[in-house]
Amino acid sequence: MEFNNALRNHPCRDLLTYSQVIHFLQKTFSGSGDELKKVTNLARKIREGMESISPFIQQATQSVCPRCTHICCISKHGHYTYEDLIYVTALNREPPQLIFGRNDTERCPYLLEHGCSMERWLRPSGCTWYFCESLLDYMEPQPAYREFDDSLQDVAELWLEMVEEFENISNRLRKR
Ligand code: SF4
Ligand code: SF4
Repeated sequence: MEFNNALRNHPCRDLLTYSQVIHFLQKTFSGSGDELKKVTNLARKIREGMESISPFIQQATQSVCPRCTHICCISKHGHYTYEDLIYVTALNREPPQLIFGRNDTERCPYLLEHGCSMERWLRPSGCTWYFCESLLDYMEPQPAYREFDDSLQDVAELWLEMVEEFENISNRLRKR
């Protein structure tokens, strides 16, 4: 199927769209030679950035989440966007098999007894970038918060650059 702009903006919340987006991205990366190398390098830096801030987030979630009465790990949030799939494909990772058609409010299938079963750098961006008020209240007074916040900002900038770079190059490749 021909990939088009409408599909690109689709939230990938059904199996057909999810599979089509993955197919398009894998085909684009495999047929691009070295042209998407910069995208891959940016994705690697994002992963490294996420791994470096993960312990700070982890110590907060470990302390705050067990007392939470409105757990945010529900099916609605355990989905990958088009941008997430660019990132995962750039890292040459097979996107996780998702379970579609679940009720949005059901418990996320990746949530196990001791928390999320996925490594933080591989989680959907909706999870990665979400910090609830309780979590922020716990993190902000800590001396390491400023450094964490700066690093998070750096990762966010890398993310935007990665998506923009991918879009520019894939548009060029499509026109050939
Ligand atoms: S991140 Fe916030 S909303 Fe989500 S489970 Fe933890 S405390 Fe609850
Ligand atoms: S953090 Fe993990 S368990 Fe929670 S919603 Fe995201 S993928 Fe699901």
